[in-house]
Order: sequence, then C-alpha cells, then structure tokens
Amino acid sequence: MQIIDLRSDTLTRPTEKMRQVIARAEVGDDVYGEDPSINRLEKTGAEIMGKQAALFVPSGTMANQIAAMVHTSPGDEIITEITSHIFLYEAGGLGRLCGVQTHVLKGERGLFSPDDLEGAIRGENIHFPRTTLVTFENTHNRAGGRVFAPEELAPHLEICRKANIPTHLDGARIFNAAVALELTPDVLVADFDSLSFCLSKGLGAPVGSLLCGSEEFIEQARKVRKILGGGMRQAGILAAAGLFALDGVEERLARDHQLARILAGAIEKMDNFRLDFPVESNIVVGRYLGGDSIQEVVNRMKENGLLVNPFGPASIRLVTHQDVSQEEIFRAVKIMETI
Ligand SMILES: *Cc1c(COP(=O)(O)O)cnc(C)c1O
Repeated sequence: MQIIDLRSDTLTRPTEKMRQVIARAEVGDDVYGEDPSINRLEKTGAEIMGKQAALFVPSGTMANQIAAMVHTSPGDEIITEITSHIFLYEAGGLGRLCGVQTHVLKGERGLFSPDDLEGAIRGENIHFPRTTLVTFENTHNRAGGRVFAPEELAPHLEICRKANIPTHLDGARIFNAAVALELTPDVLVADFDSLSFCLSKGLGAPVGSLLCGSEEFIEQARKVRKILGGGMRQAGILAAAGLFALDGVEERLARDHQLARILAGAIEKMDNFRLDFPVESNIVVGRYLGGDSIQEVVNRMKENGLLVNPFGPASIRLVTHQDVSQEEIFRAVKIMETI
C-alpha cells in the first residue's frame, strides 16, 4: 500500500536535483564566516526579505528563540498570541532560554485585537516587568494556515512602534502567505524588526531556517547562535539546498495551495467531517463529527494508508506539500469518506 503522508510539509525529502546541488556545494568553516554557500544564502535571504542581514540556523525554533534572546533580557515580558508556535510548541524555550515571562493574549483565529495589545503593554511601574517584544505568526499554523495581509497587522505594529517595542514575525511559512496574497514576502515583513522563515517546510530543503533583521541585530544573533551550539562548520551543503529551495518557490507553493483547496472542497461535502477554518494556504483542518476519539480516527486512517496529525480534541490537520500528488489527494478524500 502506497502511504499518503499529509502530517506536515516538514516531511518533504530532497529531490534528485537538490541532492546533486548538495553534492557539489562549495563549503568552508562558517564559524570563521568562510562558507561561500552559507554567505550566499544569507545574502539572498536578506535581499528577498528586504532586510540588511540574515543568519542561517538549524531550525525555526532556534531562529525564534535567538530573536527572543536578542530582543529581551531575563525578567522581561513577551506578548504573544495564545496559540502561537513560540508559546505552544517550543518546549518552554522562552522561559528556559530567555528567562522571560510570557503574556499570552487570546486571539480570534490567531490574532489578538489592537486594544488587547495596547492594554497588555506594561507602563513604567516599579512592580512591573518590561515589555520588550511582541511576536506574530504568518501564516498561522494553529489557526489553520491563516494568511495575514499587511493591513491586518498594521494597527498592531503601529502600537508597538509608538510604544518603542520591537516586533518579531514567526514567518515559518511566510512564502505561503506571500503566494496566497500574490505579494512578494518583503512587503509582508517590512514593518517587523526581525523575522524567521523555514527552508525545511514547503520550500523542500532538508534542514534550516533564516533569521533576518538589521546588521546590528544579526551580529548579536550570531553570538547567541554560538551560545546555543548552532555555530555549524561546513554547513554549506545545507545552505546550498536552501538556496536551491528558494528557486521557483512561488510555483511550487501555488500548487500546494491548489491541492489544499481541492481537499477542502471535498471535505465541505462530507457528512463525517467539516472544516474548522477557511483554507487559505497549504493547511487544512477538519473536524470529525462522529463519536470516536480523534486518536481512533487517526489510527483508522493510517490503517487505510493516510497519515494525518491529530489537531486538538476533535480535529485532524492535513498539510499539502511537494511530495504529494493530485492523485494522492483524490485518494486521501476517498479514505476520509470511509472513516
Ligand atoms: C515549524 C514551525 C516553527 C519551527 O520550525 P522548526 O524548524 O520545526 O523548529 C516555528 N513556527 C511555526 C509557525 C512553525 O510552523
């Protein structure tokens, strides 16, 4: 049985062509700043995002944690949305690595209101921690791959700017947002002090993320990356894959989004599932309407050759990516219908 794996877009494997690029990559010692492939990737990434500089790091989690460590000091407070990746899925790094406390705001589909943000920013008072970072996520994973257009985040960023508080964008899937909006990514990240994005998800590279920001921010980030053990040596073999992954990304992600829409359209017609969120990118969240536990549902799908992740108490997440074909999406729909 051919398994259809829709658990995540992190599952993409390097293509034959990417493996050839990896094999030929020029390398050097990156801790000495001498890896030409990494230097090229960092320069290219910064240019694409319209920022002064970028830093290649092993994972999106490390990129976010480095950003938080650079922007804050222990004892400070970070404002983030209650279902954000940095709060939910980074193993408590904000507390453990940054020594900050997290002020989580309840959002509507992944975004809190400007009023709630304004109310959460700490004023000057001997009792209070300092608010030194506000984070956002685009696309928003827990909100079903929700895409935020620049004007939706503009009021929030204006509040932060007025209060002189830096902002970080967890843009793990920022290219998905850009493709969905038919904009270039630099437009979506222009007003953030820093941002991270993953090369290892829909882009299809095996490893790596980029953290982007000002020259000064990236200089500090480079030091923090070393502290965390993320200073790699001839990692140009990974950076070359990342550079290759950036080439033609728009077409590939547009296809992933198209497959997600096909899946969503089929789910809308099912009796046993309904969509939890409108589908805006490559993530589809379906709520099971039958009586069985979500783990039983996931197990039964697996027995039938479809892998998905449980997503909360009654839902599953299905993610389209370059390693699934349209034919497999049709088969996935058939399997879901029999559950
Ligand atoms: C995947 C993801 C990350 C972290 O990336 P890793 O490379 O898996 O550490 C961060 N934020 C969001 C929104 C993600 O989806």
